[in-house]
Amino acid sequence: MMRQKIIIAIDGFSSCGKSTLAKHLACKLQYIYVDSGAMYRAITLYFLKNNVVVNNKAAVESALKNIHLHFMFDELLARSIMYLNGEDVEQQIRNMLISEKVSEVAAVKQVRTFAVQQQQNFGKNKGIVMDGRDIGTTVFPNAELKVFMTADISIRVQRRFKELHVTDKNITIEEVKNNLEMRDYIDTNREVSPLRKAKDTIVLDNSSLTEAQQLMIALQWSNEKINSLQ
Ligand code: C5P
Repeated sequence: MMRQKIIIAIDGFSSCGKSTLAKHLACKLQYIYVDSGAMYRAITLYFLKNNVVVNNKAAVESALKNIHLHFMFDELLARSIMYLNGEDVEQQIRNMLISEKVSEVAAVKQVRTFAVQQQQNFGKNKGIVMDGRDIGTTVFPNAELKVFMTADISIRVQRRFKELHVTDKNITIEEVKNNLEMRDYIDTNREVSPLRKAKDTIVLDNSSLTEAQQLMIALQWSNEKINSLQ
């Protein structure tokens, strides 16, 4: 019998390891993985390159009409790559300049409507793991499994610093900490779809868990859910 496919929503604060877990989980279950944050980052890149001011509603609306986003799976790198209007922007969207602006852009209502519509479309056949801030609350309120990830701020800072330091030797711990705190603040306090725990979410604090342990836990939750639906 074919196993029923489900939607798995993974939300949480910045740099909690959501993408790593979501990617590995999707791979184990042979599901699609979607990094919704990459979409907001790509939109931010477009806004920066084209001098789109976020509080100019008309400019935002016309810019969104010119934005085409898609993901492509790179077999060699074994990860999906974000394309903005046909260009691979995967590296550009991970830099600090984008991290500094993205939460402001992601707080704009029209931007969210634009991104959420595409995200919902990715999930129409289920069999998807998506990570972000509002996946369990807004994008897929009926997701069969919702996980909310948290970790101590000092651990999150260390993890993100290590990641960014590979390509930016000038980056400081202080800068990374300020950025994470600022994004958490804006993401939690914005008017449209703020970061919240969905009421039926399971909290996963991974401060003292290895990646393998987190994957084992999430895989168990997923299989329990899938089996309960057979
Ligand atoms: O996940 P990542 O840290 O790459 O996301 C970058 C930013 O995009 C977040 O800080 C947040 O402002 C925004 N975001 C969002 N909703 C999502 C995913 C990301 O608002 N579902």
